[in-house]
Amino acid sequence: MNLDRCCVHTITTKPWSLAESVERYAAAGVKGISVWQNAVEGMTHAQAGELIRKNGLDVVSYVRGGFFPHTSAEERAKAIEHNKKLVEEAAALGAPLIVLVCGASPDQTLEASRAQIQSGIEAVLPFAEQMNVKLAIEPLHPMYAADRSAINSLAQANDISEAIGSPFVGVAVDVYHVWWEPNLEAEIIRCGKNDHLMAYHVCDWKVNTGDMLNDRGLMGEGCIDIKKISRWVDATGFDGYVEVEIFSNIYWQQDQQEFLGKIVKAFEEKV
Ligand code: ZN
Repeated sequence: MNLDRCCVHTITTKPWSLAESVERYAAAGVKGISVWQNAVEGMTHAQAGELIRKNGLDVVSYVRGGFFPHTSAEERAKAIEHNKKLVEEAAALGAPLIVLVCGASPDQTLEASRAQIQSGIEAVLPFAEQMNVKLAIEPLHPMYAADRSAINSLAQANDISEAIGSPFVGVAVDVYHVWWEPNLEAEIIRCGKNDHLMAYHVCDWKVNTGDMLNDRGLMGEGCIDIKKISRWVDATGFDGYVEVEIFSNIYWQQDQQEFLGKIVKAFEEKV
């Protein structure tokens, strides 16, 4: 894919500060940046937004909100307040959307967690609308269903965003989480039709993955047919940034400049 649509998520080059990431992404021809909340250090969110725009990059998303389910009502209320604070930070940063990792509690059923996710999003929604920040539900691979997300397929993410029915709530499609899904093309078409397809993330699924969270592959290094999924996403009319999001203990130990070079090449050839 053309680099004009390339966005890199700061977690991908975790060893770099935000300032370093911004400068080096821009120099490499990357056009967008997604900001992990911990990347904003030693400055306000407004200052971080200025720094990014001054270097010619667009802020694509702020990551991450969510984690709504808890067995205690007090904890659920805290999560809603925390998400409102994130909405405020995203607005100050100039990010058009927050990605939601919805959460799950192993101490209750998945159904209970799903109901709490929907009511949590509905509780944050009026404030998000007021601040003009969208909320994108990112379904996570089922291996995370115990404690990270009870929303484990694009079909489920579509169900919940349709049930809420707001132009401010949609989905983030990440190839790592949904590549296995039997009706993936139909579900991508479905969220595209509702204008609910708000973000598209790429990396790759390594066949011999060594860590559930931090062993994601560079595009082309695993078994996902990324080009095919990109075609389906583009066919919906989605023409936004394609976000490279690679959580990797292996790449974080390597030279980040060389890694960025590999990302750019893989983006042009494999996405
Ligand atoms: Zn993602």
